[in-house]
This record gives sequence, structure tokens and C-alpha cells, in this order.
Amino acid sequence: MAIKLPIYMDNHATTPLDPRVLDAMLPYLRDNFGNAASRSHAFGWAAEKASEDAREQVAALIGASGKEIVWTSGATESDNLALKGAAEFHKDKGNHIVTAQTEHKAVLDTCKRLEKEGFQVTYLPVAEDGRVRPEAVAAALTDKTILVSVMLANNEIGTVNPVNEIGAVVKARGCLFHIDAVQGVGKIPFDVNAARADLVSLSAHKMYGPKGVGALYVRRKPRVRISAQIDGGGHERGMRSGTLNVPGIVGFGVAAEICRRELSVEGPRMLALRERLRQGLQSQISDTFVNGSMEHRLPGNLNISFAFIEGEAMLMALKDVAVSSGSACTSASLEPSYVLRALGVEEEMAHTSIRFGIGRFNTEEEVDFVIDLVARKVKKLREMSPLYEMAQAGIDIKSIQWAAH
Ligand SMILES: *Cc1c(COP(=O)(O)O)cnc(C)c1O
Repeated sequence: MAIKLPIYMDNHATTPLDPRVLDAMLPYLRDNFGNAASRSHAFGWAAEKASEDAREQVAALIGASGKEIVWTSGATESDNLALKGAAEFHKDKGNHIVTAQTEHKAVLDTCKRLEKEGFQVTYLPVAEDGRVRPEAVAAALTDKTILVSVMLANNEIGTVNPVNEIGAVVKARGCLFHIDAVQGVGKIPFDVNAARADLVSLSAHKMYGPKGVGALYVRRKPRVRISAQIDGGGHERGMRSGTLNVPGIVGFGVAAEICRRELSVEGPRMLALRERLRQGLQSQISDTFVNGSMEHRLPGNLNISFAFIEGEAMLMALKDVAVSSGSACTSASLEPSYVLRALGVEEEMAHTSIRFGIGRFNTEEEVDFVIDLVARKVKKLREMSPLYEMAQAGIDIKSIQWAAH
């Protein structure tokens, strides 16, 4: 079968909508357009029923109950609601929050905002494998700590954190535990009770559902209290006002259901494709370096640096494959990936990193195409690279004194 170009391999940024999800959504974009808050007629009842069914589907994926799911516009909002909502509600208990340097910006920028408002935030460093150590969390907790926020899996390097162990540490000290589980849920097993999580952020579009819909899990037993950040009609048990995005919520529910049913088959299939890609690239290309843990890693993630090649030159050479780079020029800031820097990856190597995110709709044929294409492009780019030539001649590049100009 002919391969359709470009190939999408950026499934950490977003995932395509599963056609089964779209089919489930369509009736709610057409005839079943009711407002789930309309109590007086069948249009409202149908919308409410659909939203409640989806609540059960999303809850089932994480071992929760439907009543613990609060619908949001996405995980950015969920992270904001979890952190700001907990900080505001519990500010009489303390003013300290613990998180990690490798968290998503939705958590880090929210923490920065809270710092401006007088909260103190500890940004834990990570080990070379990118994981947050439970002992480091334990050491950071104080009598003033309200909340600990650690992600399940990292969006750049796919590293999976020991959230169950961290949860045990956090709960032993009576603090709240928030997990940004966006990248892990649906791809690896996750259970809110095993992790002893109080608050968990989820996003539909990272698991083959639609964009613009997410959820915040808020534990009921024992009851976790947070302050609403959006005021309005008191929807979602007062935690998040606003008319529900019913088609999106229906899609999220079906996306979660599919992930739950297919996880045990899809997990190993993703892993096999990822390993095929990694082995193919590393057998054909010298001087590569995989960033992050190989052992504790999302099955579909490969973050790999190709020494002597600029990430953006590589992206341009790889027009037929949608991937992303940890290089500075591909992001809004001028710094190379802060995640890679937090692992201690050298700036030069961070600039040469490419993130492959394999997903449900990728095939073996596509992986083989990508291996061949990357191998050819790396060879060509290195042939043009004076640094590579010097390295081949045995010159230590770090010893070179660069002239200012
Ligand atoms: C994508 C992502 C988010 C943001 O989710 P949106 O639904 O796009 O707002 C938050 N955290 C992580 C880890 C993500 O990968």
C-alpha cells in the first residue's frame, strides 16, 4: 500500500480524532443540540444523559467514579483549576507548593502566577533519566505545603514518573496530590487510587478525542475542596461554570472507552513500533543519543539527539514527517528545551533532538519509511557539517575557541 505523505508522528502535540469518536459526536452536533443544564425538556435531558454517560466512561479509564469528573475546556484549564483552586481554598493551611522542573507549561506558568500572589514554589530537579524521585519530594515537603503537582508522563521525553510512590509520600504528610496525567492516561495503566491522587488533569485531544475538552478528577472520598476559578451558573457542582460542550464531552467519553478497551493490545503495538524505529535509526546512524529513561517511558515516545545536526535543519529536511524538535528555533522562546536542560543534556545536544510521537494510526510501513528518510538526511547534513568533519578527524569540538564576529 502506498504511504500517504506527510506522515504524522507528533502524537504528543495532539492526536487525530478516531473515526469512531467522530461518529459518536455527530448526532450531538446536529439534532441533539440541547443544553445539558435545561431541566424542562427532552433536548436538555438528552444532552445531560450524554454528558453523564461520558463522565462514567472517562472515570472508568482512571478507576474513578463519574461524580468525581469535572468537565473543562482542556488540560491547561484543568491544571489551572487544580493548582489555583487548591491554593486559594487552602491558603490558611499554608503557602507552599511542590512541583518539578520538567512539568508542562500549564503547570509551571500557573505556579509562576501563584508565586506573584505570594505562594512559594519548589521546582524539583530531576535525575538524569528525567524522573522525579519520591525521596526528593519527601525532602521538599514542609508544614506549609498545600499541594504537590507531578506529571504522570512527560510530553517531550515520555518519561513516566513513579506517581504511586510519590503519592504515598505526599499523603503521609497530609498534602494534596495533583497529577497532570495527560500524556499517560490511555497509553499506560493508571489508577487514581493506586496513585492516591486528589486531583488529576486529562485532555481528550491527546487520546484521539476532540480538541477543546478536558477534565479534572476531584476526589470525593475523602472530599477534596478547591475554589472555582470561573464564576457563572454553578455548573459542575460549583467547580466550573459554563454551558457544557456536549459534542466534545461525548467524544471524550468514547475516546476514553476505546483507550480502556484497547490498551492491552495498543500498548505493546506502540512499543513494538517505537522499538522498530529506535533500532532502525540507531543501527543506521552513528552518534545518536536517546534522551530520558528507556525503562520508564511511554511506549510511543522516542526523543533522540543526532549529534552534529541542528534540529531545525533536520525538521526542514524531514518535510514529509511531522515531528518536533527540542531546538530553540522551533519554540517561542530562545532557549532550547527546558526539559532536556533539566536532565543535564548539553545545549548542543538539546539543539539536535527530535521527538517522535508514535500513535494509534501509525504503521510499520511508515516507521520503515521514516527510518530510511532520517538516515539519508542525517548522512547528507553531516556531510555538509564542518563540526562533523572535525569530530571524524579526532578533534575535540569542546576545545575549539570560537571567534566573536
Ligand atoms: C497537551 C498537554 C497539556 C495541555 O492540554 P490542553 O488540553 O491542550 O490544554 C497539559 N499537560 C500536558 C502534559 C500536555 O501534554
